[in-house]
Amino acid sequence: MPDVLVVGAGIVGAASAYRLAEAGLEVVVLEKEATFAQGSTGKSAAGVRVQFSEPLNILLSYHSILEYQGIPEAAYRPIGYLFLVPEALKEAQEEALATQRALGVPVERLTLREAQSRVPFREEGLAYATFGPRDGVIDPHGVTGYYLREARRLGARVRFSEPLLSARRVKGVWRVGTPKGELEAPFLLLCTGAWTGEVGKRLGLEIPIQPVRRMVFATGPVPFSHAFPLTIDLATGFYLRSEGPRVLLGRSNPDEPPGFRGGMDWGWLAPTLEAGLFRFPFLEGLALDRKASWWGYYEMTPDANPILGFVEEGLLVAAGFSGHGVQQAAMVGRLMAEEVAHGKARSLDISPFRLDRFRKGHLLKERGIV
Ligand SMILES: Cc1cc2nc3c(=O)[nH]c(=O)nc-3n(C[C@H](O)[C@H](O)[C@H](O)COP(=O)(O)OP(=O)(O)OC[C@H]3O[C@@H](n4cnc5c(N)ncnc54)[C@H](O)[C@@H]3O)c2cc1C
Repeated sequence: MPDVLVVGAGIVGAASAYRLAEAGLEVVVLEKEATFAQGSTGKSAAGVRVQFSEPLNILLSYHSILEYQGIPEAAYRPIGYLFLVPEALKEAQEEALATQRALGVPVERLTLREAQSRVPFREEGLAYATFGPRDGVIDPHGVTGYYLREARRLGARVRFSEPLLSARRVKGVWRVGTPKGELEAPFLLLCTGAWTGEVGKRLGLEIPIQPVRRMVFATGPVPFSHAFPLTIDLATGFYLRSEGPRVLLGRSNPDEPPGFRGGMDWGWLAPTLEAGLFRFPFLEGLALDRKASWWGYYEMTPDANPILGFVEEGLLVAAGFSGHGVQQAAMVGRLMAEEVAHGKARSLDISPFRLDRFRKGHLLKERGIV
């Protein structure tokens, strides 16, 4: 009998499987799709950054970025994240900057002129900018493949096209039903991303994680040279960055209803461009490449922070990253292995992100959600 069943072969399940196997545990990964990274991981904009307001988010990302730097498959590129701070948010961002600096992570405060040397923008309504020089992008697919390969090298088994259909606790073990039969293990770890609310129901549990569609728009090749960092106008949430000869851009629709509503919502392009053209007039005239644009699901919790660790006997959740799981997966994998091996995560105090915060009314509001 394996020690741990990990459900989900996205970046979080893969990192967890690797660290659990490294801790000497026997691991089986169940994935409903025919291969890995088919959920949100393969749809992400691939950004990694330390610029959050919640200390635990800052640390999860920072430690993960340090790990990705050492993984060739991560193809880490420190292109930086540039936050453009409007007058109305200057105090809140100042507070976040102070928290980031107190934790020792690299973030700089820039004047608008300094920021304009990285990307041209209209200053109206802005106070200053912040820049994370170690923030950047990775290859989430490459990282997930790397972790699964390492997990397998250490004896983990990965079973694709095998969804968890049911699970119940019987005599101290989890009995999991799949289309291919039943498996048992003392520990069950749900790394099921946007599907976690649905999977929870199969176990008779309320886990407050919902899918919310998000889109990334891509221009065609741009007729001038550019190397824009991931730049966010905090006034509207509009963001852009360079990707080779293209510019990627997007903006979260606050009215997007939760649910598995797939496909591109081209109706959201006009409100996105309206915000973008105001701040970045150089976008005028660039051609959009509809085929290179894409959509995927954010895995939203009520306070836009993940749910981590034990939720009941033998059952753990590592999901609900609300759009920032790629940049935290490496550290989350280590913490989940500690939680199983020692009964409690040790390297960081994950208590602010435990499920019971919702019952206790201790919701945290992360301001750095894009
Ligand atoms: C458009 C977009 C842009 C984003 N940009 C960024 C970004 O720049 N930076 C960042 O950090 N994050 C970003 N994210 C968020 C990021 O993609 C997610 O937070 C992260 O991928 C979550 O990883 P995961 O492993 O938890 O989930 P997933 O990758 O979704 O993996 C969950 C897995 O569970 C499997 N599964 C579900 N149900 C079952 C079942 N019953 N049985 C077996 N398997 C099951 C699924 O098939 C899936 O493979 C973005 C997301 C989107 C959609």
